[in-house]
Amino acid sequence: SACLLWFRRDLRLSDNPALTAALARGTPVIPVYIHDPEAERPWTPGAASRSWLHHSLTALAADLAVRGSCLIVRRGPALDTLQALIGETGANAVLWNRLYEPALVARDTRIKAALKRDGIEAGSHNAALWCEPWQIATGSGAPFKVFTPFWRALATRLPDAPIQPAPERIPAPREWPAGLSIDELALRPQLAWDQGFYAIWQPGEAGALARLASFIDDGLHGYRDARDRPAEGGVSRLSPHLHFGEIGPRQVLRAVQRARAGGEVPERDAEHFLRELGWREFAHHLLHHFPETPDAPLNPGFAAMPWRAVRDHEAELRAWQRGRTGIPIVDAGMRELWATGWMHNRVRMIVASLLTKNLLIPWQHGARWFWDALVDADLANNTLGWQWVAGCGADAAPYFRIFNPVLQSRKFDATGRYIRRWVPELADLSDAAIHAPWTLGADAPRGYPPPIVDLGASRQRALDAYARMRAAG
Ligand code: FAD
Repeated sequence: SACLLWFRRDLRLSDNPALTAALARGTPVIPVYIHDPEAERPWTPGAASRSWLHHSLTALAADLAVRGSCLIVRRGPALDTLQALIGETGANAVLWNRLYEPALVARDTRIKAALKRDGIEAGSHNAALWCEPWQIATGSGAPFKVFTPFWRALATRLPDAPIQPAPERIPAPREWPAGLSIDELALRPQLAWDQGFYAIWQPGEAGALARLASFIDDGLHGYRDARDRPAEGGVSRLSPHLHFGEIGPRQVLRAVQRARAGGEVPERDAEHFLRELGWREFAHHLLHHFPETPDAPLNPGFAAMPWRAVRDHEAELRAWQRGRTGIPIVDAGMRELWATGWMHNRVRMIVASLLTKNLLIPWQHGARWFWDALVDADLANNTLGWQWVAGCGADAAPYFRIFNPVLQSRKFDATGRYIRRWVPELADLSDAAIHAPWTLGADAPRGYPPPIVDLGASRQRALDAYARMRAAG
């Protein structure tokens, strides 16, 4: 007998509960990755995610190989593939770590039932969250829709079990089943637009652990203030590693607790950083309880919002996507996204606000673009982020509080360092002019577009649209 260890987005060997359970069985372990993007419809992984996955799987396969093991890669519907592997290997158990996307929950539930019907042990574990989304509820047993009480409830239930280190050896079967090479999955883009990514990213468990260690040493101290300034390296950049499960949130928690106990970081920085991970838990809580929200507003009143039809305004959407809106902080963010597969959180909020409020384009179009372009694209976090900015989600800022991108830029990128990095056409402007080059009139740099919208008039248009929506409700 043997055990199939089904890797999904838990691409690590430390703190991996399914792996721990597989080893405890005392039989050979056969690690498997099944490429089954169809199962994720309508949210099949985007281009940047696929690129990352290629590298992450490559790292995992190497980490398994040094432990005498092997990653078996297959393609096809997951249940058929697992059943075929069971037939070929005589495995009597399949273990995995849970995912929370609605389409995958439905698939995994079917798979578990089918395997059990066949007399196969099928077990799932939690590797991705501090707490399962269904373990946290309000006093009356309902899901939370507001972050602060959710966080208070979560903070009393933080996990404290010891972290399992990566095993030194993983028992191998006498014979390995056949598999594909990772290249055969064709995850990388044909045109290598992602080539800039890997100068700054190291996908895989070793890269994730190194990123955490360097953040704890250099970034956590001062996080609360530095996290809003995009030119500084004041954030962890752990998001793609967490999304792919190259590191687990329990490991991050433990590292922060250790630094805090050792007096290496101020309490307020540690607390603020843990709260951000709390938002990640909140996003998964919401996705679990409101599975329709990747496509539909959590606040049903927004069904009546008079958005502008994208088919009439495609040029505006394209300008936003390409970082050619003429609003420097927005263009800097959109170009950072294109070049690196990531964007700073403060700038994500600014670009999303411009799209959904000043341009009055439905948030789903922005969410789709992020989905394709982010290496950390995550259905729970992306949905929460977009609905929050658009004003239709949980705990959203009131719709009438509309970001002014120029004021945001002056406040959080005062010397224009971030803008200069990503919008080189503006590099020579003064610190005062760089946030709004159109104020220079005839002296505005050539080759940089004028603003796509008048910020004042479009703000009023958004407020009027909101008033109409409210009147319709
Ligand atoms: P840090 O500040 O170091 O935070 C640590 C971790 O906490 C992050 O890695 C992330 O896992 C979590 N976190 C931080 N902020 C949030 C948040 N607001 N919501 C949920 N989790 C959070 N995050 C994604 O991981 N995937 C997405 O697809 C995504 N889409 C977003 C879309 C919009 C419009 C907005 C406004 C935010 C989005 N976020 C998304 C949340 C946030 O911007 C990123 O998690 C963060 O910028 C990642 O950088 P970091 O790892 O350096 O964050």
